[in-house]
Amino acid sequence: MSAVNFEEMKGKTFTEIRVTEKLCEVCDKPIRAEEKVLKTIVIADYDAYSNLFARQRAHDRVEVDVEENKIYLYHHDYPGDVHPDCIEKL
Ligand SMILES: [Zn+2]
Repeated sequence: MSAVNFEEMKGKTFTEIRVTEKLCEVCDKPIRAEEKVLKTIVIADYDAYSNLFARQRAHDRVEVDVEENKIYLYHHDYPGDVHPDCIEKL
């Protein structure tokens, strides 16, 4: 997020996508990720940009794809699954 500045997002419409990474109980690395399209937002002015920046605190991380006009809001979840390789390590 810090790599994307206001000038790159100004006046553009972005699709917000919530990404829930399902993490392995053993190694904490993602097993799979689920994407859900939330809404479309317009970064019309600096307020809209800084609002997005402020909302980062509610998410694990936020990534902006300025090529595809997409904003990814990342969350973690532990579904109780383990990588097949990690089962062998137990
Ligand atoms: Zn694992």
